[in-house]
Amino acid sequence: MKVDFIIVGQGIAGTSFAFELLRQNKSFIIIDSNERITASKVALGIYNPLVLKWFSKVWRIDEQLKYFYPFYNSLGKFLNKKIIYDIGIYKYLSNSLQQNNWMVKSAHLNKEKYMSNNLLNITNSNINSLNYYGLINFAGRIDISSIIHLFRSYCLKKKYLLQDSFSYKSLVIKSDCIKYQNINSRNIIFCEGYRVYQNPFFNLNIIPTKGEVVIFNSKKLKLDKIIHSGALIVPLGNDQYAIGSTYNLNDSTNHITRDAKDHFYSILKSSFNCTFEFINHYAGVRPATIDRKPIIGSHFKYKNMFVLNGLGSRGVMYAPYLSKVLINSIYSSSKIDDELQIYRN
Ligand SMILES: Cc1cc2nc3c(=O)[nH]c(=O)nc-3n(C[C@H](O)[C@H](O)[C@H](O)COP(=O)(O)OP(=O)(O)OC[C@H]3O[C@@H](n4cnc5c(N)ncnc54)[C@H](O)[C@@H]3O)c2cc1C
Repeated sequence: MKVDFIIVGQGIAGTSFAFELLRQNKSFIIIDSNERITASKVALGIYNPLVLKWFSKVWRIDEQLKYFYPFYNSLGKFLNKKIIYDIGIYKYLSNSLQQNNWMVKSAHLNKEKYMSNNLLNITNSNINSLNYYGLINFAGRIDISSIIHLFRSYCLKKKYLLQDSFSYKSLVIKSDCIKYQNINSRNIIFCEGYRVYQNPFFNLNIIPTKGEVVIFNSKKLKLDKIIHSGALIVPLGNDQYAIGSTYNLNDSTNHITRDAKDHFYSILKSSFNCTFEFINHYAGVRPATIDRKPIIGSHFKYKNMFVLNGLGSRGVMYAPYLSKVLINSIYSSSKIDDELQIYRN
């Protein structure tokens, strides 16, 4: 079998890269071990142009958004599934300092319309604090779990995917081709998320950062936007919601914890006055980096070997943008910025 790319890992990184290749008429085969729980499968899928702590713009947000909507619109059509819920986020502003800060920052960022230029009240009697909120636009949820499952089904049907754990020692690397089992490829890209620590070719400085989310049911709550009030509370439809996420750098297992459950329970209890019932609880491990920037590029010795990793807590926005930047650098020789390079300081 001859292909342009072997892709190792089918999280949001591998999926975005594969879909971008498809759009450019390049061929690929994905090798993925199909673990039941991965960061991409449990992620809330939130995209948000602001750093919520500072109300500042996310790194390169204007550039990222140019790729973001066309990419997910096209992927949604391809998978025949609604995957973008562009519903906005209400940020709870609990004190006058935050409210003032919001107004100052929104005046500054107003031309992009990311932030409402006034403070809002919510009319929902199930919410304890009805004022004040700021509304974040160009924000919402991507149904990342459906993307992973549907794209996997498509690839299996087309024989573009092998369900297997990748064996690094079986790889034969030549300057003009890569051989793996019966596959003859021009290139290979590794998109293993935090499991890249097993990869003998790249020694990336990835910090495994565990996160937990709880799915709950509430018949009365009737939220139509995401709320950020201590945590992100996300409407999923059919009276189901997700709340997340925690950050833990000292545990890189997928085990759910009592602490996280209690934490979410107390946030919901203090935020809402209606009943709710927990129905699921997940934990996954994010591939974060110290400088919070992702990592893309080619191996220092093997120029046909690439990596796309370090998506941290922004995989949904980073993955399409980085796939495009990397593919452009491979096929159109455009330069990858120093701050994204593998071998940066
Ligand atoms: C609780 C939680 C909530 C989150 N919420 C959000 C959010 O709201 N918005 C957002 O943008 N991001 C969010 N994130 C972060 C986001 O999930 C990650 O940035 C993203 O999923 C990372 O994707 P990835 O493809 O790099 O890695 P992964 O999702 O980990 O995928 C890697 C894939 O590679 C496979 N693999 C690894 N090694 C091998 C091997 N040797 N052989 C074969 N297959 C292999 C794995 O099985 C997996 O399928 C959240 C993360 C968590 C844990």
